[in-house]
Amino acid sequence: MIDAPADMLFVSTRNSSLTARFSEALAQGLAPDGGLYVPTAWPEVRLEELPDASDLPALAHAVLRPFLRGDRLADELGAITREAFSFPAPLVPLGEGAKLAVLELFHGPTAAFKDFGARFLAASLTRLRKGSARPLRILVATSGDTGGAVAAAFHRRPGIEVAVLFPKGLVSPVQERQLTCWGENVRSFAVRGTFDDCQRMVKEAFLDPVLRERSELSSANSINLGRLLPQMVYYVAASLRVWREHGERANFVIPSGNLGNALACIWARRIGLPIGEVVLAHNANRTVPDFLETGEWRPRPSVATLACAMDVGNPSNMERLRALYPRLEELRAAVSAYSVDDDQIRARIRAGWQRFGQVWCPHTATAAEAYERLGPERQARRWILVATAHPAKFPETVEPLIGEKVTPPPALAELLSRPTSFTEIDADLGALRAVLT
Ligand SMILES: *Cc1c(COP(=O)(O)O)cnc(C)c1O
Repeated sequence: MIDAPADMLFVSTRNSSLTARFSEALAQGLAPDGGLYVPTAWPEVRLEELPDASDLPALAHAVLRPFLRGDRLADELGAITREAFSFPAPLVPLGEGAKLAVLELFHGPTAAFKDFGARFLAASLTRLRKGSARPLRILVATSGDTGGAVAAAFHRRPGIEVAVLFPKGLVSPVQERQLTCWGENVRSFAVRGTFDDCQRMVKEAFLDPVLRERSELSSANSINLGRLLPQMVYYVAASLRVWREHGERANFVIPSGNLGNALACIWARRIGLPIGEVVLAHNANRTVPDFLETGEWRPRPSVATLACAMDVGNPSNMERLRALYPRLEELRAAVSAYSVDDDQIRARIRAGWQRFGQVWCPHTATAAEAYERLGPERQARRWILVATAHPAKFPETVEPLIGEKVTPPPALAELLSRPTSFTEIDADLGALRAVLT
């Protein structure tokens, strides 16, 4: 007799007796003890059974199904993946016959990779909320890209309201438009303070009895499993394609901040995808490269850089990475990391344009620079640079460097043409309470 496969449970990184199914982990975001949910078991994929690498919804369904085993959303996964993976993730070769390619993750509504995770989370949460009496309010503190992707993904979702908090005057002009062009169920608040103030206000709101009385509160930040798991899918697709076309493993260089994107790649490797090295490209925020070098975990305040979506001094997903590789030697064998400063970012954007006719956003340029540092032996393998955002999101940086205008893709152009509106508030809980009725 064969036992039926057990339900998939996720467990807190801090307490192995705190478990949750997929839907519970999604609704909670953080585990109740402040830890992050990780799978208790790793499914093994069979490469030959996976569908065509260009069919992202089918691949997503095949790869994510074991993670939803026994969950109340399991039967709806097909519909969720069709809704979330509605735009491509093309793999573009760089140069003739080269073993180098760029994985473009910026073809979604807000032109950054966060659209994949945000849309999957929105499609899942909407289904979970069906028939609930109380509205769900999603609070997002953003320093730029996250808020736009979350707002776009949840716009016009019935029964869900979104409040986006961003630091007034501290996000780029394109980012500000993406945060404030929605209306209806999405409201934007320019906080007279910093990103840290926004984050603090969201945390306080979750503990506030008055706000909790008014609606159910949830967050959509990047530590949510509902954003992390779907990010595995484009690594599955890209590595499968390389494997089927060339019989080689794909090695990835990933622009990294909070490590959510890179962790998804490592999880894809863990379940059996033919992925070789995973290289983390950080900006001047060097917490992770320093840790791998010295073995000392020293989080620090973030510094502002051109690759602003990676300005993270205390990357939260490190906790998940260390859960997978508890010993430093294991971690060093699993990933390597480089830090790239703003001058190097600028130089790499220029070089990408001159050598390949490619226009890279500042984040993507960190990956291109890290690749240059690998040396000939490692470069002889097949490498994929992960392009996390479209350069048209950062025209003030990119255009002077290449001496050309960057044309926004149609979806981004459409957003940029919409009217915007936001409410300015003070950086305290009372002000937030007053506007969230
Ligand atoms: C969020 C973001 C990153 C960093 O991703 P993490 O998952 O936080 O490591 C890199 N590039 C862009 C464009 C982003 O928006």
